[in-house]
This record gives sequence, structure tokens and C-alpha cells, in this order.
Amino acid sequence: MPTNEFNTIFWKAALESAGQGVWDYDIRTGRRDHSDVWHHIRGQEPGVYVTPSDQEWIESIHPDDRKVAQDQTNRLNAGELAEVAYEYRERHAEGHWMWIMCRGRAVEWDAHGKPFRFVGTDTDITRIKASEDAVKAVSRRLELALSSVQMGVWRYDVTQDTIEWDARLKSIYGLPEDAPVPRNAWERALHPDDYRSATEAARTGLAQKLDYDLSYRIIRPDGDVRFIHSRVSFQNDLIGGPILVGINWDATGEHERSVALETANRLAAARNAELEAARAEMEHNALHDTLTGLPNRRKLDQVQREHGARPQGRFAILHIDLDRFKQINDVYGHDVGDFVLRNTADILRDCVPDGALVARVGGDEFAILVPDAPDEPALSLLAARLIQRAAQPVTYLGNECRYGISIGIAVAEGDAADGKSLFVNADLALYRAKNEGRGRFSFFREAMRTQAMAVKQRADEILAGIERDEFFCVYQPQFCAQTLRITGVEALVRWQSPRLGVMQPSDFLTLAEEMNLLARIDQIVLRKCSADFRLWAREGLAVPRLSVNLSKSRLHDPNLARELAGLNLMEGRLSLELLESNFLDVEDEVVSANIRSARQSGIEIEVDDFGTGHASIVSLLRLKPDRLKIDRALVEHMEGSQTQAQLLTSIIEIGHLLGISITAEGVENDRQIQMLQALGCDELQGYALARPMTSADLITFLRDRTRLAISAE
Ligand code: C2E
Ligand code: CA
Ligand code: CA
Repeated sequence: MPTNEFNTIFWKAALESAGQGVWDYDIRTGRRDHSDVWHHIRGQEPGVYVTPSDQEWIESIHPDDRKVAQDQTNRLNAGELAEVAYEYRERHAEGHWMWIMCRGRAVEWDAHGKPFRFVGTDTDITRIKASEDAVKAVSRRLELALSSVQMGVWRYDVTQDTIEWDARLKSIYGLPEDAPVPRNAWERALHPDDYRSATEAARTGLAQKLDYDLSYRIIRPDGDVRFIHSRVSFQNDLIGGPILVGINWDATGEHERSVALETANRLAAARNAELEAARAEMEHNALHDTLTGLPNRRKLDQVQREHGARPQGRFAILHIDLDRFKQINDVYGHDVGDFVLRNTADILRDCVPDGALVARVGGDEFAILVPDAPDEPALSLLAARLIQRAAQPVTYLGNECRYGISIGIAVAEGDAADGKSLFVNADLALYRAKNEGRGRFSFFREAMRTQAMAVKQRADEILAGIERDEFFCVYQPQFCAQTLRITGVEALVRWQSPRLGVMQPSDFLTLAEEMNLLARIDQIVLRKCSADFRLWAREGLAVPRLSVNLSKSRLHDPNLARELAGLNLMEGRLSLELLESNFLDVEDEVVSANIRSARQSGIEIEVDDFGTGHASIVSLLRLKPDRLKIDRALVEHMEGSQTQAQLLTSIIEIGHLLGISITAEGVENDRQIQMLQALGCDELQGYALARPMTSADLITFLRDRTRLAISAE
């Protein structure tokens, strides 16, 4: 075997064992040799190899690759190319396409230098192509992902100290996409404020061979500042050399949003703080009194509730009320009133034990809540000290004024510590202290509640009685002292209670006055007695005068004059009985106007219960009432007491001197009648002559009297 031939066989064997099919063509003779592997890679069965013709070979090639394959072959054959290497697809015996890498070269030439023999290898690269495709697909997907999130990628070869940036990274950094980036492009772009932190983090990451995240600002060549997020991963290249791969993305928008969000958050927090402060102030104002700075009723209720919620607590409430505060306000003015309130607040604050709460709970009312309250003697001491301090005169702008306080105390223990009812209890005790004469303190006792409940019930009944028209009048005749003829009747109110029977004024008038119902009752009386009066007239019974009692509040009623004018009593006169304290020495527009217009309508004015108050001669001179009614107490004591008798004599004399008629009340016996006649009293009223009676009884009484008078004639 020639060396040449041997070499050929040797190489062929080597190539075949490496999986490469060998071909050997001689275009001069048309010989075409293919190795076993050449057939094998094409799926052709060994032993039945058929050497394809040129044409058959071309037809087995994928139409897209035919041009390349033919072109390369032609140029090799023509001697244009010394060697060829190309890839193409060829139909596998099983029908699918396979990729072949074809390499070939000319190996023999004729005398003209034209090649006629060619040798080459075909390699099945289908699997390489497939994995290339897979890589391409992954790469395409990655590319798509990176481009959709606008991420730029860089790769730093640590060993080579070379860096590569992709186009998007360059665009993020504002660098030209077609020029290579300088080695230090990143450092150069860093914002001076972030330079240190960013480069240090990068250095640490590199030294520790760890993945890391980084955020920093860059300044682009156009001066634009961008916020960059970066993620860096430490990897090894194919031959194990260390490389860093990083992605960068522009987070400026994100950053701006978060800055805006942060600013908004900060503003909101500031606004919240402002609102909170305003709310706290409002709450403070809502819970405190501006004049004294003390907590108010609301605050007290709040604290009380808190104490009530702790059943183990024993606590006391002192309810404090200023005595004569209204007078101070009226006489000295509101400035002094305010001063007095502040002064009281100071005293209370000063005297209470630690932990106690002082509150202003009303115009001139204060309350002290004492937690862990001491026993009654100790509380009494505290109350006494407060009363004593408040009784000290105070001077304000040269005015010395005196006032005082009354205190009601209620103590609650354990479960009974219901704040609300405790305050009510303290209030009841205060009411008692005031009633007992002010400047005192009083502890709540259970009986007070029962009594208060009874009063409440009575009050409700009075109100219902008014609505159900249960009030009516009885009449007590008045007589001429000399002739004992009837001069008039006094209307006296009664209440027909369905539960209690007929009630006297002493049973309900005080309460009615407290409830501001007295004026209404007076109004009812006036209406009823004038109706009765008209009835008597129709019966032909002449009653010369009808007297009605008028309460203080009724005297202040602006409608009084109009109602009086509209009464129309026909023949007969109306007389108003007023307590001296209610109108003498009273300077009130409405009261004066009411009295004036009553007199203008021909209504008489009488001073009731004269001699019990302090009516001055001067005021009598000024007002010139038509009649004085001497109080029963004076009449009662006239018999046994020389001075009382003298006093009576003087009253009658002065009255007559001023042209005022005198009526004696409460005349109970003949002896009194005789004495009063002797003293020159004008009229008499009392049980000795007639008791108060109903309208019907009065009619009988008047008829009997008339009959008596006629028969006497
Ligand atoms: P007053 O105006 O001084 O009326 C006289 C009271 O003395 C009447 O009591 C009468 O029943 C009673 N009385 C009359 N004669 C005698 C007597 O000889 N001995 C004794 N011990 N008492 C005698 P009453 O009806 O209980 O009235 C009590 C007070 O109630 C009245 O005192 C008056 O202040 C007031 N009042 C009565 N009715 C009315 C009314 O309609 N309006 C107002 N605002 N007050 C009235
Ligand atoms: Ca009277
Ligand atoms: Ca009287």
C-alpha cells in the first residue's frame, strides 16, 4: 500500500471513530466514495449502501440550504475555493431533517492546476444545533424579559479585568450604544454623594464573592440624575474564572414615587399631629371651665365613671353651692361675681387632699371628688374648713364682699359606687344643708332620698292636677267691723287630689313655687273665682268685693294686666292681695306696670300679712295701697301683750292718716272682734265670723244672711 493510500486509510479510520463520515470524490473519473459512518449518520443501512448521484444528493438537501451547498461545491470544484465548510440540512432515512457540518478540500490537481480530487468529512451536528436553538430561545426570552423591564446587563471578568455593557445598560447611563464603555464608566457616572457607599459595597461584594443589591444615583452626561437599582451576582465562567454579572434598572420613577409618598406621609403625619393637638385642646376646653380653669361637670362625670368602674374604691362627692351668689352678682356686678368664683376655686384647690378632683359643675356650683375617701369625721373636718375659709370676707377692687358656701356630702363604697346616683345623693344633702340655713354641710342619708322621692311624686301630681283641672277656690267672707255686714270674700285655692283628697295651700304652694307653677295656679284661681263671682251675681247675690292672692311670680307676669282688664266682673270690685315683700320696695318695670294698670282698671291693691315684714312708711306713702291686712300673728297676741296692742293701734292710726283701710285677719273669737272694733279697725276676717267655704256653701251662706237681714228689719 502506497504511503499516500495508507495515510488516507489511517486518517479515515481516525475520523470515522470520531463519528465523522468521510467522503472522497474524483470528478475526473466520477468516483464517489463514502465511508460507513457517512451512510450511518444518514440512517442508511450498512451493506445496502447506494452511492447517490449528484442530483440525488442535491434533492435530499433542505430547499433552503440547497443554494449554499451547491454554491460551495461548485466553487470548490472550480478551484475558486481551496476548502469549504458549511452547514446544511439533509433528509434522514427516517424522513426527518438532520443538520450536517460539511468540510472539504481539494487534494489533487491536474497539470493546469485544476483540482479533480476532493476529500472531506460530514458531521452530524443535529444535536449541537438543537442545543444551540435552545440556548437561542432562552436568550431570546431573557432578552425579552430584560427589555420589558428596561434592565441593562454588565459582565465583569475578574481575571481579565474587562467589562462588557449591553446596549440597554449604556442607554440607561446615557452612553452611546455603539461605542465600547471605558473600564471606569460606572465609577465616573456615580453621584458624588453616593460614590463612597456604592464603590465600597461593590468592593465588599467582590471580596466576599457574594451576591448583593445596591441603590445609588448616577449623573448622566446630559446632567440628568437617575436613581439606579443594581443586583450583582458572583459567578464562574466556563473555565472556572470568577466573573460578576450585574443588572441595573432605572428606578427614578419608583424613587420619585416613594419620595412623593414619603413627603405625603410626612405631611399627613404633621397634619395628624396638628389635628391631634387641636383635638386635645378641644377636649381640654370641653372638659374644663375657662373662668376657673377647673375641670367641668363632663370631666367630673368621666372621672366618676372611672372610679365607679373600680368597685373596690370608696369615694366621696362634696357638692358645693355658693350662698347669696345671685345677690353678689346683682349688687356688685359680674366682675365681682367672677372674682368670687375664682376665689372659691382657689380655696377648694387649696384645701382638698392630694388626688382629689375639684370641678366647677354649674354657675355657682362646685364639686369635689375624693377618692379613697376618709371616714365621716375626717370629711366633716374638710367641709368645715372649706366653709370657714369661704366665709372670710374678700376684697375686690376696694369692694369687700362676704359670701358663704353650703356643702352636701355623699360617700360611696364598693359596688354602690355608682357615680351618677352619688352626685344626686350629694345634691340632696346639699339641699338639706341649704334648707337648714346655709353655711353648713350635710351628709346624705337614705331618708333624704325617700323624702325627695315623695316630693318628686307630689310635684308630678301637682302638674297632673293642673292638667286635670283639679284646682278650685274656696271663699272666706270679710266683714265690716262695725256692722258685720259682708264687705267681700277672699278666694283661697284648694286642690282636689284624687289620691290625697282636698289639699290646703300649705301642702302644695311651696312646691308649686319651686316648680315655677305658682303663677299658673294663680291664673287658674283668677279665672275660676271670677266665674264664680259672675254666678253669684246671676243668683242675685251681691258680693261687693272679690280678693285674690297674687304670688310674686304672677306679679312679674307681663300678661297679667291684659288678663285683669279682660275679667269683666260686672258690679263688684276686684282686689289683689300682695305680700309686702313682693311689691313694696321692689323696683321692677313689669311689677310697677302691672300694679299701675291694675289700678287704672279700678282694681284695688291690698298689702297681705302686714306687720310681718319690713314695709316702710315711705313706701306706703309712695304706693298708697287701698288696704292693709294685719297679719294673724299680730291679732293673735293682741289680747295678752300691751306692746302688740299698741303696735296694732299705731298701724290703724297711720293707715287712716294715709287714707288706707285696715282689715284684721285671723279673728278667732268675740273678744278679738270687740277689741278690733274699739281700735277702729275697718274690716274683720276670721274663723269667728266665717270659715273659707265652697262657692255652693257661700251661696247658701249669703242667702241665709240676706234672709236674716230681711227678717231683722
Ligand atoms: P293668707 O292670704 O294670709 O290667707 C289666709 C289664710 O288664713 C287662709 O289659709 C285661711 O284659711 C286662714 N284663716 C282665715 N281665718 C283664720 C282664722 O281665724 N284662724 C286661722 N288660724 N286661720 C285663718 P289658707 O287658705 O290655708 O291659705 C294659706 C295661704 O296660702 C294664704 O294666706 C295665702 O298666702 C296662700 N294662698 C291661698 N290661696 C292662694 C292663691 O290662690 N294664690 C296664692 N298666690 N296664694 C294663695
Ligand atoms: Ca290673703
Ligand atoms: Ca294674710
